[in-house]
Amino acid sequence: MTISHLPGLGDALAKKFNVLGIYSIRDLLLHLPIRYEDRSSSNEINQLSIGEHTSIQGQIIKTEIVMSRKRMLICTVQDDSGIIQLRFMHFYPNMQQSLAVGKWLKAYGEVKKGKIYFEMIHPQIQVRTTNHDFDIVDTERYTPIYAATYGLTQTMLRKFIHLALLLLKRNPTLEIIPNTFIAGLPSIEEALHIIHEPPLDADIIQLEDGSHPAKKRLIFEELLAYHLSMQITKTHNQTLLATPIIPNHHYITPFLQALPFSPTRAQNRVVNEIWQDMAKNVPMMRLVQGDVGSGKTLVAALAALNALENKQQVVLMAPTEILAEQHFLNFTNWFEPLGLQVTLLSGKLTAKRKRECYESLESGQIDILIGTHAVFVEQVKFANLGFVIIDEQHRFGVAQRLTLWQKGIKDNTHPHQLIMTATPIPRTLAMTIYADLDVSTIDELPPGRTPVTTVVLPNTRREEVITRIEHACHDGKQVYWVCTLVEESEILEAQAAEVAYTDLQSLLPTIKVGLIHGKMKPSLKQAVMQDFKQGQIQLLVATTVIEVGVDVPNASLMVIENAERLGLSQLHQLRGRVGRGSAASHCVLMYQTPLSRTTKERLNAMRDSNDGFVIAQKDLEIRGGGEILGTRQVGIADFKVVDLIRDQHMISAIQNVSSYILTYHPESAITIVNCWLPDRAKYINA
Ligand code: ADP
Ligand code: MG
Repeated sequence: MTISHLPGLGDALAKKFNVLGIYSIRDLLLHLPIRYEDRSSSNEINQLSIGEHTSIQGQIIKTEIVMSRKRMLICTVQDDSGIIQLRFMHFYPNMQQSLAVGKWLKAYGEVKKGKIYFEMIHPQIQVRTTNHDFDIVDTERYTPIYAATYGLTQTMLRKFIHLALLLLKRNPTLEIIPNTFIAGLPSIEEALHIIHEPPLDADIIQLEDGSHPAKKRLIFEELLAYHLSMQITKTHNQTLLATPIIPNHHYITPFLQALPFSPTRAQNRVVNEIWQDMAKNVPMMRLVQGDVGSGKTLVAALAALNALENKQQVVLMAPTEILAEQHFLNFTNWFEPLGLQVTLLSGKLTAKRKRECYESLESGQIDILIGTHAVFVEQVKFANLGFVIIDEQHRFGVAQRLTLWQKGIKDNTHPHQLIMTATPIPRTLAMTIYADLDVSTIDELPPGRTPVTTVVLPNTRREEVITRIEHACHDGKQVYWVCTLVEESEILEAQAAEVAYTDLQSLLPTIKVGLIHGKMKPSLKQAVMQDFKQGQIQLLVATTVIEVGVDVPNASLMVIENAERLGLSQLHQLRGRVGRGSAASHCVLMYQTPLSRTTKERLNAMRDSNDGFVIAQKDLEIRGGGEILGTRQVGIADFKVVDLIRDQHMISAIQNVSSYILTYHPESAITIVNCWLPDRAKYINA
């Protein structure tokens, strides 16, 4: 049912609701408060803080109309503690009289900084002749605050949501989860009521932090919707067609012969799982998980060769330029001797070079295309794309993944897809996040790796660290010095790296120091990486751009400055850049003192383990927070109420309910997905 069924909601207003993504009554009911405000008690004026939404109560000491840019009414109010000014740009002719000096007033609004006093602009007000008799503004004590839009006020939102709740009470059609599965939780109708119009005794903290049964009811349902959508996608994929690809070893055999090492047992196992998938006539959708340095690239190469020897084109998509360039170098070295055409498509190519690339791609001259986001563009068309590889998938959203995949759909056959990630995710979470994919894990590192020894040091010991760098370089080793992100700014980070670079150059005159950061030209970056690889640079000062993929086995010492700024998963990725050769490797996590206890614990967790999964688990325990996942990056941040980390204890129950619903009430499954994830529903039907 659309929102236009609500009394008083005309077409013009409906358009405003549409801006918020609200079309149906169900959408409206699921437009949940972002927070609540307690309007029942007033604050002392001198205790207010700017930006807070609150009530004040006091006596009017002046009301005047002033002409500045525009005519406005200013009412000055005083309580025992101080003075505040209320500003109205729109007002009725008699408003000045009704706000007469001496009257008492209660105002509710956002506190702003004025020239002399605090201000509120267009607060909601009540005026009385004595300092009592004020109504409690809303019958309920807690006022929900919603995401709003121009022309759609909080009051209007509350009014129409109220009407929608009444409607729901009469037809509780939203109840989809069978009651047996939600023992102890309220019905959807009750839950929505509590959330939109909390009763006087509601525990607002619980409502906000998700531990309230009403909130839990919604979390359960949203998580279920997500899980169902993944299951449906998976089932749907099974109905699609793909070209079966079976290894004939035309390229694979010479490639393995030329390779200076042999694949590990884990790599072989995973490659076989991939080949088996590719041999089917349904498209493969497989995720390869493997810790940093576990050798995912080789696995991708062996999978790619299978497609290539069957005359299919391959695309490999990387999240950063530097990583794409690195893959390009690797694949060129590996594949060109086999007579294969490897091409790099980066956003930084000239228009002419790009056009050439598009043409030879469409004519089928290019065998394997490696690129960044540049491969998503419309001009990129393939002659015969049979295999899509996505590296470090947590940086791409589901939509992007699909765009690329769709480029390969031809005569109703679909390309096979391989997704590789180094983000270690605890098992229960992985079961939810990747429920639409088959998962292979490379659980073994290539031989000859020496575990990285990690130390945690305060920056007061910087000099010692620098001496250590000097010794390492004189012993023929290579070193990374990593400058971390300042306030999420790549520019500031680049500046910090430049400062460290100059500083280290003057402190270490006998050492060849290089610099690399995200703001440099790609050609320059590539030249620097090449120099470092070949040993012309001994100490490389870098920003976190080297986080993924960079591979220089001779580098055996890494110093991370301000390590406390980074999340554990990022630190783990960074540290994975050393320990790739046979020399004993070290990582120095330098922190700015003083350090909070939890941060210290996190750094110690890095010191105590080299295993990405252990670290991820530890991070969960210490922080209980979402950083390990970078849920935003996983492309599933579109949850309304779910917090995957907080709510993971529900996952096993969800799996039961999900298969029950899919078996016995498949039509409800679609309804519930449509209800919570209308965008995802689009993909399912695609
Ligand atoms: P990641 O899984 O982090 O992407 P890479 O694919 O970059 O790891 O591999 C890391 C390093 O290990 C590379 O230098 C690669 O050549 C090397 N490597 C991969 N597989 C093996 C193996 N089976 N034996 C020895 N070295 C290997
Ligand atoms: Mg990699």
